[in-house]
Amino acid sequence: MCAKTIETKDITYEGLLQGNADWIQDMIQADPDYFDKLSAGQHPPVLWIGCSDSRVPANQITNTMPGDIFVHRNIANVVVHTDMNLLSVLDYSVNVLKVKHIIVCGHYGCGGVNAALGNKQVGIIDNWLRHIRDVYRVHQLEMETMKDPEKRSNRMVELNAIESAANVVNTSIVQNAWANGQELSVHAWVYSLRTGKITDMKVSSHGINDVHPAFKVSL
Ligand SMILES: [Zn+2]
Repeated sequence: MCAKTIETKDITYEGLLQGNADWIQDMIQADPDYFDKLSAGQHPPVLWIGCSDSRVPANQITNTMPGDIFVHRNIANVVVHTDMNLLSVLDYSVNVLKVKHIIVCGHYGCGGVNAALGNKQVGIIDNWLRHIRDVYRVHQLEMETMKDPEKRSNRMVELNAIESAANVVNTSIVQNAWANGQELSVHAWVYSLRTGKITDMKVSSHGINDVHPAFKVSL
């Protein structure tokens, strides 16, 4: 049932379409009604907010299937309150799909986080990565005690995931859901490209009492 392994360098435009045809065949072979069932609707219990990095695909690394996870990805899994794209995904997944878990998943070795830690101009993306520099500023004391570049990068990845999860908690969307008695938890995870392992940052929020007073909205 598993698609054949192909080297990235071998991927072609035509190859993608052939891969699709192969995959359809595999899925139908395993379950002739697979696409009928899948097209009937979606009830994913999880919203995933992850990095666009090609090596961190939500379904593969959690051993889940199409229909299991609603996904939003951007460079360095940043959550900001002015991002209409993210807010629309969050609103739809919480208020229509009624997901039970929102997971912000960063990953060690994140190019976006590393770029934010440096001073080199990259381009328009610098404006996006500025949000990560804001996270650095909040945690400056801790970050300045770390001299090893890899350790600094790894910790920044963790802090960025934790702060992004906090930003999810601080939205009126999540707080209104809790006020309405909806079961909803927000988590921060970090994925290791080297081992494939996900580490739970253990900062999960489950209700209004987990919201910092400065961000509590009047309900
Ligand atoms: Zn990344």
